[in-house]
Amino acid sequence: MEIMKARTQPELMTVLKFLDKRMVLPVKNKQHIVSMEKGYEGEKRFDSLLGMAVQAEVLVLNDLLLSISDQSVQIDSLVITPETAYLYEIKNYRGDYQMKDRQLLTLSGKEIGNPLTQLTRTTSLLRQLFHQWHADIGVEGAVIYVNPTFTLYHASPKDPLILPNQIQAHFSKLDSQRVALNRNHRYLADRLLSKHRTDANFHQLIPDYDYHCLKKGITCVVCGSFDMEFTQRMGTCKSCHSKRAKEETVVQNIEEFRLLFPELKISRNIIHEWCGEKVSKERISFILSKKYTKKNHTTGAYYEWKESSLDDSLTNKRF
Ligand SMILES: [Zn+2]
Repeated sequence: MEIMKARTQPELMTVLKFLDKRMVLPVKNKQHIVSMEKGYEGEKRFDSLLGMAVQAEVLVLNDLLLSISDQSVQIDSLVITPETAYLYEIKNYRGDYQMKDRQLLTLSGKEIGNPLTQLTRTTSLLRQLFHQWHADIGVEGAVIYVNPTFTLYHASPKDPLILPNQIQAHFSKLDSQRVALNRNHRYLADRLLSKHRTDANFHQLIPDYDYHCLKKGITCVVCGSFDMEFTQRMGTCKSCHSKRAKEETVVQNIEEFRLLFPELKISRNIIHEWCGEKVSKERISFILSKKYTKKNHTTGAYYEWKESSLDDSLTNKRF
């Protein structure tokens, strides 16, 4: 199994979580964080189940956002096997549900929607794209329910739904294919990757904020609390009791700043203020010159990110 596009925490979720610590977020944004967290947890569960079950040569592309025939297509996971590209829509619902007239409902009758509407559309658009590209490979789509507590009553065996107790058997089927991939499969995966784009609606889903309205201070990298205590080298969170090197905590807080304010220059003074003046300016200068590249040495020095100096997915985010 080769992961050609790894899954990372959604940027929108990262930004909203950072803002949630430092301002009062509208309820709809808070609810969005909770639903994104549930979804992301489910996607990671899917990745782990797939990783454990499939050893065969397949190509995996996660979180693809494509534009096909002017329509936006979002794919949670695409697994390219020699004969078929399996497209998965991953759901992390907990508890008991029922299917009635192709609608998914809770047992008390609350309508959740038709799980197959989106899947049918996505599958058909991907087939159309492969046809345009003359890619000789089938497309099969399925909605996969990964939470082990999920139970579905009255589901039709004909519907492309994979329930928790069917996941193992389904992945075993993928794993049993013994035909090798060829360079056409890889070419197809590369072509899909080059077509991937970032979400243009991203900014519309973030509330307005500016530097002055956000709470200043150093936050715990584990739980987000401002209740931190520092010694010479270590930082201890009084809320979750985690301990981290002071430098690591400061760098993570600088990275929060960088992600939230890509247009602002990173200077010693602004980071000193951003960190709530909890760390001396000398220490901030030391950390900045170690991890970042200094620009404009004479007057008004500022720092830019030194590529590859920190191996953390957070630092690769741009929007
Ligand atoms: Zn903490």
